[in-house]
Amino acid sequence: MKKKKAVAGLLTIGLLTSAPWSVGFAEPPKWTNVNAYEEQNGSLFNSENYNYVKFSQIGSKLADIQKQSNRVKVEVRGKSADGHPLYVVTIADPTTQGKFGKIKSLRKQMFKNPGKAQDWIKNNPDFKVPIMINGSIHGTEFVGSDAILQLIERFATQNDQETKNILENNILIFNVVQNPDGRVNATRFNGEGIDLNRDFITQSQPETKETVELIKEWNPMVFLDTHGYVKNYAVNRQGLIEPCTPPHNPNYEYDLYNKWAIEQAKAMEASIMKEKFKFTGNLYQSMEGAYIPQRNDSAGWDDYPPIFTPMYAMYHGAYGHTLEAPTNDLDGVRWQYNAILGALKFTTENKQGMITDQIEVFKRGINFNHPTHKDGFFPKAYILPVDEKDPTVTNKAVNHLINNDIEVVQATKAFTVDGKTYAKGTYLVQMDQAKAGLANTMLWDGEDISDDTPAMYDISAWSLPELWGFEAVPTQTSVAVTTTKVNQITEQGSISGMGPFIIPNSSVKAVNLANTLLQQGVPVKRDAEGNFYTEAAANQISAAVKASGLQVESTATVPPKAEALSSLKVAILKDGGMGKVQSHSGTKLALKRLGFEVTEVTPVEVAEKGLSGFDTFVYSGTESLISTNLSVANQEFGFQNASQFDLFKANVTEFVSNGGKYIAVGAGSSRATKTLGLTDDTMNTGGSNSNGIVKVNYEGTGITAGYDQDDLGFVYRPVWYTETGNDEILATLADSDDFFVAGHWRNSSGAKGQAVMVKEQDKDVTLIGLEAGFRDHTDYLFRLLSNAIFEK
Ligand SMILES: [Zn+2]
Repeated sequence: MKKKKAVAGLLTIGLLTSAPWSVGFAEPPKWTNVNAYEEQNGSLFNSENYNYVKFSQIGSKLADIQKQSNRVKVEVRGKSADGHPLYVVTIADPTTQGKFGKIKSLRKQMFKNPGKAQDWIKNNPDFKVPIMINGSIHGTEFVGSDAILQLIERFATQNDQETKNILENNILIFNVVQNPDGRVNATRFNGEGIDLNRDFITQSQPETKETVELIKEWNPMVFLDTHGYVKNYAVNRQGLIEPCTPPHNPNYEYDLYNKWAIEQAKAMEASIMKEKFKFTGNLYQSMEGAYIPQRNDSAGWDDYPPIFTPMYAMYHGAYGHTLEAPTNDLDGVRWQYNAILGALKFTTENKQGMITDQIEVFKRGINFNHPTHKDGFFPKAYILPVDEKDPTVTNKAVNHLINNDIEVVQATKAFTVDGKTYAKGTYLVQMDQAKAGLANTMLWDGEDISDDTPAMYDISAWSLPELWGFEAVPTQTSVAVTTTKVNQITEQGSISGMGPFIIPNSSVKAVNLANTLLQQGVPVKRDAEGNFYTEAAANQISAAVKASGLQVESTATVPPKAEALSSLKVAILKDGGMGKVQSHSGTKLALKRLGFEVTEVTPVEVAEKGLSGFDTFVYSGTESLISTNLSVANQEFGFQNASQFDLFKANVTEFVSNGGKYIAVGAGSSRATKTLGLTDDTMNTGGSNSNGIVKVNYEGTGITAGYDQDDLGFVYRPVWYTETGNDEILATLADSDDFFVAGHWRNSSGAKGQAVMVKEQDKDVTLIGLEAGFRDHTDYLFRLLSNAIFEK
């Protein structure tokens, strides 16, 4: 079937150089002039491949469509990590063109005067609602963007009654290719190796940031996120349409969401089934519907963490849905196309009720009236005190909140709450605001949901204060103090005194400053508490200090035991995409943000070339990276034969015996370290999906300098070490029944009080069981990495 269509396409190449996408599948998409060296043809991650639309063709085709239609606006909004353009296409009927600004400001009335906005909706039935559709955030799930391209063409050019009805009632905003790097490289991730559909609480990547901007700008009523591939999750149910199974995050106004989302899902399913006869694959012939997790299951596909795009959009009042097509082929494209069309028809028929309930979400926030929540679930406010010497972490948090449409204010004088006095300049997040749910999901501690469900799909705890490392004190008391609204904080560091200067071991930016100075050739020393010292002149370091955001002060003396540091070369083992994850990427980004020079080395490169020229080797990823028994899908990224493992092991062993530093992070690498013969400790692991925030008792000097005995950590597939012999125990999980603070970890009691960080007694091998560099999110724990690298 595919072959036949490809031939048809070839015959008509000459006629098609400026033709847009085929409408409604009258003909297959026809693409030419693709340089095979420029884009990966086919995917390493899926066995099914078809002639999907190549990224390099999209820009000019969108421009052609824009020329032909007075309904279309094409924009490039920012660039991907690798520098590819991020296309946004807005389609609205011609009477609405030129009025987007006005419509966006009307939308903002929803959370400024929600009652008025609801009245306005009642009296102005011809209003239009924005619907946002996100294309292929996972690069290999090609069908999403392909369906979007066909929808763009249809709504740009067609005049049938259905098209007109939809455009009379909706504005369509297409984020055409959310992950260009992934599409070009035919991988799941962006150019930094980050799974963008896990990045919406952290927003570390340019693609995610742009999408957040777009969501904030429009506050879409519906958000559809296109994915693949899910088939046969239930008998004859093909593809997947959310809403999800429990547990639902308690920070949602879930009742308002679900009232419409479940019906909208069924409408999408009906739209797919209506044209069932047009699908060609066998899978589709016996299709009886889609798998809707909430309807068809009791657990396993949850919407708990705000890391996924539609779940994040739900905090902006959107009816969010993930759509997983069954297959990576033209049937999969059709499935997406018809699902999205079903949603558009549903919103056209129900916009009045749906928008009223979207506004109700904001109204509940503003009125601090949450009828489905227990009293006290939402605090009255969060108080964010500022560390004057190192405000960088709080600054990052405040800017992040503002970037997410959360209002932050600053006290103009000192005030007292719950018996504690806070200084002038303290930040406040008052919780009587429209997007209170989003504020709370970012600032709360989370909860232990181990008993709520057998397993979670992904992370179950993410507290920004705990994992970024800033203070956010919730209070049930109304805080009455005069405040001013905060806009973006532009931070600038300063230097005072004549030196020597102390850079406290207090944040990622502090370590970055020390590394920056080292790379500039400035001598830096470090003491057992992890603080840095320099005797350089103030004017020699002032530019770097300004850029850091820190307030660097003089100190009377440099402690005599402080040791001189050198600029170090760090290698990290690269995961190309094992099990659809680049498991090393979080730690790689953490090391970069700490200011280290980091080089990614693949397992094969280490086997072939060794580690000479590097001071430190970091293994942070799955143990499959050194496996010789890989599935077909993973073979590309690992050893090609058993002798490569032997070479790898010999080279790493030689590196360590020559004084090289070896650091393992997480469960997979800890187990790999044992396989490599670099530790005798017993590795104990929790379930593969177990994750969360734990109480940790750190030694507090050397590798754990800056952390203390009643502190926190984060685990994912937890690992702890026993039979550690004479190894140095650097940190243990707290020896109390409540050591697990938040997240999902069943049967965790065996880990209570056990070692989670150890250093081998006779070689420079450090095992960090905590996720010190998880997905660019655990800033608070990053310094465990820098400590381990610097400590001699
Ligand atoms: Zn996906």
